[in-house]
Amino acid sequence: MPSSTFEFDQSILVEEIRKREVRLVFLQLPEGLKTYGPKLASIIEETGATAIISADPCYGACDLASVEAERVGADLIVHYGHSSMTSNTTLPTLYLEVKAKASVKRAVREAIPLLETWRKIGLVTTVQHVHKLDGVRAMLTEVGKIVKIGDAEKLKYAGQVIGCDYSNAKAVSRYVDAFLFIGGGKFHPIGVVLATGKPTVVADPFEKRAFKMETETSKLLRKRWASIREAKSAEEIGILVGLKPGQKRISEALKMKKLVEDTGKKAILLAIREITPEALMQFPTISAFINTTCPRLSLDDAGRFHSPLLTPKEALVTLGKMQWEELCKEGWFEN
Ligand code: SF4
Repeated sequence: MPSSTFEFDQSILVEEIRKREVRLVFLQLPEGLKTYGPKLASIIEETGATAIISADPCYGACDLASVEAERVGADLIVHYGHSSMTSNTTLPTLYLEVKAKASVKRAVREAIPLLETWRKIGLVTTVQHVHKLDGVRAMLTEVGKIVKIGDAEKLKYAGQVIGCDYSNAKAVSRYVDAFLFIGGGKFHPIGVVLATGKPTVVADPFEKRAFKMETETSKLLRKRWASIREAKSAEEIGILVGLKPGQKRISEALKMKKLVEDTGKKAILLAIREITPEALMQFPTISAFINTTCPRLSLDDAGRFHSPLLTPKEALVTLGKMQWEELCKEGWFEN
């Protein structure tokens, strides 16, 4: 394995392939971990099985490449880096988590002064750092904090969040003053703020630093409000139905279609796998879209699109079925 910041579980991989007498493995890794694919393929082939690496993008556990794996005749999908999300596949699937090796101590020490004004702290992280939560809890308790780690039992681990599921944060939100997120980047902590409305501090173990999520979130909220307002004038609205296994929400899309039509506007259902500006530009008469697939495309990538791309809850605000204040209070995510 290349020397890395991540620990891949190889023994379960080899054991499962041997036990199941697999001949062809379809190996799927998220962006950022694909670089480890060739080495993992070699490990798989040492068992006597053949490995095919999926070179297509993979952004989440929702994006299980079951159709592609079946198409090449694989008898096992190995999906690294995410915990299980969908059972929507006929092919046996092995989800293997990847642990980050980085120590969280220095970043947490940096975060403690930023948490100074708050006593009750909710602790959240991604699956890569979930094994470090007990240690972080001990560090915070030592400096007098009361720590809550939510377990809404929707995700595999207590305290775990994914891009579209903050149920564990929401489960403790009302009992805490602020959240501490352990992990890299701003993608997940922005989600924590949008889901709970609580101040959030990030302890980034990779960069060994800590920071508050403040300006990014207020900037994002201003942009979302602008999109909601712009969409009000659309007479023809496209409703995106996801084709990825964990993104199919046809009943939500049909509900949205009815709500749009009830206001006298035209609603067009569009089935889509990869949502890109180019794909949506093929429909120039449609001037706003409701996205029932991955909500993060609407929230994080909106600047790439020429027309508003609303989440279903934002669409309710546009259609006058929900108040903006209510959305801010309830949060952006279903979970
Ligand atoms: S729907 Fe989006 S946020 Fe949720 S797991 Fe898939 S890619 Fe991640």
